[in-house]
Amino acid sequence: MIAPDEEDIIILENHTHKTLEAGCKECGYMHIVFQACISIEMESKIFFLSVECPMCESTYKDIMIAIPLNGYEKKRYDLNDKSIYK
Ligand SMILES: [Zn+2]
Repeated sequence: MIAPDEEDIIILENHTHKTLEAGCKECGYMHIVFQACISIEMESKIFFLSVECPMCESTYKDIMIAIPLNGYEKKRYDLNDKSIYK
């Protein structure tokens, strides 16, 4: 498991805030339950929310942004390990 760096946290916070302003995609309920996650892929980092709505009981993944990995990060992350951390 890799800890997210400071830059990742800032990106997550900004995009999570924007995404949550809209509430549930299905019913618009504002008090959704979510987990913010980052998935490391071969060439990029995918920032997404795993959302659960207690009102309409829908669950979905909301991809917020994908950022290409730079050279440093490609070395830093074990690309065989596509683990998701939060
Ligand atoms: Zn809902």
